[in-house]
Amino acid sequence: MDAALLAALGAIVGDDGLIGDAVRRKPYECDGLTFHKRAPDLVLLPENTEQTVHCMRLLCEAGVPVVPRGAGTGLAGGATPLEGGVVVGTARMRRVLEVDVVDRFARVEAGLVNLDLSRACATHGLFYAPDPSSQMACTIGGNVANNSGGPHCFKYGATTRHILGLKIVTPEGEVLDLSEPEVDPTGYDLVGLFVGSEGMFGLATEITTRLVPLPEVTETLLAVFPSLEACCDSVTEIIAARLEPSAIEILDRMTIQAVEASVYAAGYPEQAEAVLLLESEGSAAEVGENVADMRAILVRHGVLEERRARDEHERARLWAGRKGAFGAMGRIAPDLYVADVVVPRTKLRELVLASTRIAHARGLTISNVFHAGDGNLHPNISYDRRDADEVERVLDAGREIMKLCVAAGGSLSGEHGIGLEKREEMELVFDPPSLERMLRVRSAWDRDGRMNPGKLIPVRVCMELRTPPPAPISKARG
Ligand SMILES: Cc1cc2nc3c(=O)[nH]c(=O)nc-3n(C[C@H](O)[C@H](O)[C@H](O)COP(=O)(O)OP(=O)(O)OC[C@H]3O[C@@H](n4cnc5c(N)ncnc54)[C@H](O)[C@@H]3O)c2cc1C
Repeated sequence: MDAALLAALGAIVGDDGLIGDAVRRKPYECDGLTFHKRAPDLVLLPENTEQTVHCMRLLCEAGVPVVPRGAGTGLAGGATPLEGGVVVGTARMRRVLEVDVVDRFARVEAGLVNLDLSRACATHGLFYAPDPSSQMACTIGGNVANNSGGPHCFKYGATTRHILGLKIVTPEGEVLDLSEPEVDPTGYDLVGLFVGSEGMFGLATEITTRLVPLPEVTETLLAVFPSLEACCDSVTEIIAARLEPSAIEILDRMTIQAVEASVYAAGYPEQAEAVLLLESEGSAAEVGENVADMRAILVRHGVLEERRARDEHERARLWAGRKGAFGAMGRIAPDLYVADVVVPRTKLRELVLASTRIAHARGLTISNVFHAGDGNLHPNISYDRRDADEVERVLDAGREIMKLCVAAGGSLSGEHGIGLEKREEMELVFDPPSLERMLRVRSAWDRDGRMNPGKLIPVRVCMELRTPPPAPISKARG
């Protein structure tokens, strides 16, 4: 990188905010998807919006690609600087700026860790509802960029339902201040457009979030099933019966065993083929009725045992197992590919079994832990990245699973985003005019295509649409 540019950036962020050393840049070469890696040319960690603005202006003048980064827990390669350039991270922007208890919103810096927001509001009887299983580490900025989900999004909706305002630094280094929470927004919904834009529209530095009241009563149940199929079917029926659990998650036998052998051990029965983790929240009367109706359905599907969390400690333990499940998979193999697809909830059983067949046909080890209520499957393939042949089989299985789920009326991603992982599969879901529209929206935010290049839009579509169409053939005049 140009020495003068480096010195100017260093003068803005100081020594603590600039990582130029090759060894210290290495952790930024990928996120949780480790198939693709490339170290950035430089990492910048500004402390506030003002520093971000100055950095972005210099990077814009120099034409350098910029990759925003939160905690790097993404699972689709979103924060991987595949085309080099500068990673701009939010690790030094972690403050809660305001909690408005009456109007129920919080204004926070983008690098705040998800769980820290709920912790900061708990004394006011409020919490931030979207709860990715990575919530101990992932940032609100990353959640916004990926429109993240989580177990309780079944009841409360994904991130986009909870973002009221944003302060964004544009690729040119201007501030777009949409941070005032509007009760009834007018005009184009720029906040809504930014949520889920995967770091390609600018860098969010401040975020205004909705807060919701802590429920009066929460009841958590662990239901043990003799088969994964019966477990899936009971979820389908609970949804069909229009019951309203706040969370409804499935873990299969291999996942249970990995969790129980790990530091996240939650007391799940190790010989069970599958367990369902169910939660119901609301008033005592609502919860009582809801749980009774759900239990009747569990019984119809042959539930072997039900355990009710007796106190907050037991509830936290049951959830720690679920939320630590991906980490626990490290006991099976050194690497884990977490597929993230959505299917109609009437097809849960069919597609879980089909994903398993796809993996087994390629000699791969597969397990399942997923947000069943949302139809959001996570077929997890354990592998060893040092085995090139196995890596190829994993990638192939991932593609087949995506194709199958889309063909069944599902979608490519429930929550992890498209990033690098699913970029080429976008054509399975969107037709050329839709992809062209997306590219045009992207150009409206980032005319040079420097923000997080190489993500989300298939390469072929980018190449085709960036090439000006051939000039019309005019008839030669004599
Ligand atoms: C164990 C584990 C469990 C997980 N469980 C879930 C789950 O239940 N639900 C779920 O949705 N996801 C889950 N994930 C995936 C991941 O945690 C989420 O996608 C999360 O939102 C990423 O946040 P992050 O701060 O790590 O962002 P990063 O990985 O750093 O970045 C993600 C994307 O956001 C962009 N970005 C980051 N910050 C900003 C910003 N301030 N402005 C603009 N763009 C930005 C990046 O460029 C990138 O494209 C899980 C991951 C792990 C490892």
